[in-house]
This record gives sequence, C-alpha cells and structure tokens, in this order.
Amino acid sequence: MATVEQRRVLVTEVPGPRSRELHARRAAAVSSGVGTTLPVYVERAGGGIVRDVDGNQLIDFGSGIAVTSVGNAAPRVVDAVREQVGAFTHTCFMITPYEGYVAVCEQLNGFTPGGFEKRSALFNSGAEAVENAVKVARHATGRPAVVVFEHAYHGRTNLTMALTAKSMPYKHRFGPFAGEVYRVPMAYPFRWPTGQENCAAEAFEQFTTLVHTQVGEANVAAVVVEPIQGEGGFVVPAPGFLASVARWCREHDILLVADEVQTGFCRTGDWFASEHEGIEPDLVTTAKGIAGGLPLAAVTGRAELMDAVHTGGLGGTFGGNPIACAAALATIETMRTDDHAGAARAIESVMRPRLDALAEKFPFIGDVRGRGAMLAIELVGADKAPDPARTAAIAAAAHRAGLVVLTAGTFGNVLRFLPPLVIPHDLLTEGMDILEDAITSTG
Ligand SMILES: *Cc1c(COP(=O)(O)O)cnc(C)c1O
Repeated sequence: MATVEQRRVLVTEVPGPRSRELHARRAAAVSSGVGTTLPVYVERAGGGIVRDVDGNQLIDFGSGIAVTSVGNAAPRVVDAVREQVGAFTHTCFMITPYEGYVAVCEQLNGFTPGGFEKRSALFNSGAEAVENAVKVARHATGRPAVVVFEHAYHGRTNLTMALTAKSMPYKHRFGPFAGEVYRVPMAYPFRWPTGQENCAAEAFEQFTTLVHTQVGEANVAAVVVEPIQGEGGFVVPAPGFLASVARWCREHDILLVADEVQTGFCRTGDWFASEHEGIEPDLVTTAKGIAGGLPLAAVTGRAELMDAVHTGGLGGTFGGNPIACAAALATIETMRTDDHAGAARAIESVMRPRLDALAEKFPFIGDVRGRGAMLAIELVGADKAPDPARTAAIAAAAHRAGLVVLTAGTFGNVLRFLPPLVIPHDLLTEGMDILEDAITSTG
C-alpha cells in the first residue's frame, strides 16, 4: 500500500541534525506565531509511518490532526490527484464549474446524517466551513445568536475564535471578537461537579436555563457543537445530552450545527459521530479527513436552509478546488470499499484495552475516553487537578522514541491518539508499547 516501509526506524536522535538545521532556517523565515509539536522535517509518509529527513521513521498516532485518516499519500488519492492536476488545476467553481465539485456534494448529501433532502457548499478549511454554517443559519432563521459550549474549538478566524472557548493560545490578544456568541457548559462527565451520573441531565438543565434567561430562545439561530470535542480534549458528551439538545432545538426552531471537522470521515467508527448519538443535525461541517490531506471543507445541510441564501452569498475563489475534489472522491471511495469505519473500530479494540489497563495501573490517568480511532487519556494529580507537565513529559518521551502523539485539552493535560485508519496493527501495538514506556518513565 504505502510507499514507505511500515517499520519504525531510529537512525539519529529525534529530531536529528538535518531536522535541526531546517528548524534553524525556519526560525529566520517563518512566523513564530505558528507552532510546532515535533520539529522533525518530513520527507515521506504513508500507512502508519512518517519518515523524516534524517531517515528516522516514526509511528504516526496523529494523522496530521485527523487529516490523513485514509493514509498519507494514499495510492488511490495520489492517482486521482495526478490525473486531475494534468487536466486542469483551477477554474473557480463560481466562474466555470466542473463535475468533481458536484460529485463531492452528491456524496456528502448522501451519507451525512439526516434522511432529508440536502445541499452542500465547499470551502478550504474547517474554520471557513463553520463560519459559513453560521452565515447560513443566521440568514435562514433571521436570528442573530449562536450558542456554543465550554471546551469548544471551531477555528482561528475572527468568528470562529469567538466560537472557540480557550483563550491561550487561540484568542489571547486577538480581540475584539464577533458578537452574539453565547457559551454554555459542556456535559463533560469526568469533570462534572456532582458526578458523571448526573452530568447529562444537569448539563441540559443548565443549558436550557442559560439560553432562556440570558439569550432568549427566539433570538437563537443555531447551537454549534462538536459531537466529540477535539482540541478541547476529546470530551465525549454524557450519553443522551446531545439528543436532548437536538430535541430542544427542534422545539424552538433553532438549528443544530454539528461541527464534524475532526470527528467526521470514519474517525469515530461511523462515517460521522452524530450517527452514534442518534442526532440529525440541520447543518454539518466537515474538513480534516475529507480529502486525504488536500485542503477541502464543506457545509452540508437541509436543502431549504442551504438554498435560502441569495446567489453569490456563499463561495470563495478556491473553495472546492478541482484537485481537492478529486482527492475527496478517491478518499470517500477508499473509505467505503475498504470499510474504514470498521478499521476505526478495530483500532479501538486494540488501543482501548491497553489504555484501560494503563489507567488501572497509573492513578494519574484519570480518564480514558473517545470512540473509534479518536481516543485520549486525561492526566491528573490529586483531586483531578490537571497535570499538563506530566502530559508534556510523556509526549516528549514518546517523540524521542519515535512515536508521534499530540496533546489537547483546555488544561493541556490530555494525550490524544488519532492514528491513520490504515495503520498496520503491528505498528499500532508497537506504538502502544512506546506509549506505555513513556508513561512508565514519568511514573
Ligand atoms: C480543526 C477544527 C476546526 C478548524 O479547522 P481548520 O481547517 O484548521 O480551519 C474546526 N472545528 C473543529 C472541530 C476542528 O477540529
């Protein structure tokens, strides 16, 4: 499958000398406002391996933040891209359209949650998709307010910073922010003050009370929610919470927008995480895993909402680029024929028991959570105090040993695992061994 040998190899320390050289060059050329998790510079990647310019081959538990779910340089995606790039690279869909864009929208309309008639529009990034979902929701309802959750992450543009919860690093000194955004508690079982058995009901009660008293239902265009929170720390809402929110939204003619940018495209063991919750959002945003690494994003939703906007109100120069569309069609085809949703569940069946066993052994692993190939552990001290220092130490030890892992969480104390769905299981197991060693080394 992949053109990189599926084997971990360490030939230098990580990062090695060539990566360090490039990193020095980078410092003189690239804004330091753009961060780096692991400064190894990549030469090739595929399957479950990222190979750096020093010849080290790292096991990939990150997928470039849930993007290369179908695999890096996935063969069918590469073929589709090659063919498209030789045919034409851009016309602008708003000037002279092409089939690939239409075909991606047909696919999205067909398999996103909701048995109703849908339309889609394509964009370049997750943030852009979320902004456009809010545009559609406000336009279609004629209402201004948007309700979002604690720990939410929706992007880095001005509106999506306003929707995002965490100040540092996403919002700090970047204000003023867009208005009419209201934040409510998330049903976060591990940190629910009265215990997780009360979480769904109490969080829903707080949600409805806050919206009623501080916003007014009739002013709310949409509730925007990640069905499993991504950057916020893979918080899985307490069972039933999202279904209650969805029901309440319907009762008040408020639109439910599911931000499936991170959870979508088989990541959680279903095509979309909303399916597991039994919710049918009015609008769904997608990006990350949609096109095997090419930049593409979408808003998909009820036809009457998506078609309510006047012609010319949505779009963008690059949105739905033909090469990205070709990549998306090949990604979708691959995920369908190779059952990548099943692959995500199989990854969970390997990783989850290992993570649970580690949590048994180490009391500082407070919580194991997530679904499919979107799993995380939350690291704590006494009384569940977040432990970002230990989290960083474990990540650094894993990196040195050749395992790419990412951190997350409002308190920076979550290690998250997002392996490519095509990762060979021997690499998955080896990655878990490295993780176990890294955790043990901080014990
Ligand atoms: C990553 C992410 C975004 C932003 O996507 P970009 O492509 O980085 O703009 C929005 N929502 C969620 C849930 C995400 O995980």
